[in-house]
Amino acid sequence: MLLGTSVLVAAPAQAETSPARAVAAPAAAPAKAPAAEDWNPPANLVQPLDQVWRHVESTYPDLYGFRNYGWDQIMANGGYINYCVRWESDTPVTAQTRDQIHAALTRQFTKWMDVMAGHNEWPYRQVPVNIVGWAVRDRSLLQWNDDSVDIYVNNLDGGGAPQCAPACGRFFNQNGDYSRCPGGAARHYDMSLWLTDGFGGGAGGDWGQRMGREYFVNARNSENIHIFLHEVGHSFGLDDFYDWTPTGVGGFLMRAGSASQITEFDAWMFRDFWRHLKPRYGY
Ligand SMILES: [Zn+2]
Repeated sequence: MLLGTSVLVAAPAQAETSPARAVAAPAAAPAKAPAAEDWNPPANLVQPLDQVWRHVESTYPDLYGFRNYGWDQIMANGGYINYCVRWESDTPVTAQTRDQIHAALTRQFTKWMDVMAGHNEWPYRQVPVNIVGWAVRDRSLLQWNDDSVDIYVNNLDGGGAPQCAPACGRFFNQNGDYSRCPGGAARHYDMSLWLTDGFGGGAGGDWGQRMGREYFVNARNSENIHIFLHEVGHSFGLDDFYDWTPTGVGGFLMRAGSASQITEFDAWMFRDFWRHLKPRYGY
């Protein structure tokens, strides 16, 4: 099953070097432990993690220059993430289903954030997940009248799919200027949860995650919405493993079809991405 394409992969190698920092030995007790002490993966994962990172370094076109990973979005916001729901369907949505979709989105996204809580200087114990907008073709599909979310009607992308206003989207405004967004920065969205009727598998990237509308809605109360979880991994920079497998690890979420939840190896790959990215934030 094709589980997705990342916008971050598949390009010639660049002459990038590891951002590992030299840590000078302090003369007195440091205020906090050196970063190296925060990096303690299980011994059996050290080699495969190193293989994964070297593969990422040699295949991503702009690994260290790209500044729209999920990490960057949360840091820019100061610790939360805003979503637009793209409802590419003619199926009506009740207020109850809307709220259940929000709850599911929060529960699933939080599984990745829980991996980071208290780890290696990641500054947020919790990352609230807000849905600020819904995009539809026909307002009558959304069966609520409150103003809890912004509603974008018949605002279509080039392929005819409804989207929230580009002026409010981080993907389109990576400088963080939302002055043309009617609700301003407070109503901007970082990612889209793009639900399409009959869409097989999934896709994910810095713009958000896309999968079948039926799949996500039917799985909304499941413990693990694994396609969504996999695609969120891409939004934070994790790669696919269609053509190779790191040494000594079997099933894991980012190896499509081999696991249905975040495994220990997925968690450490996620942490490794932050470890390599955090110097840009002064950590
Ligand atoms: Zn994938």
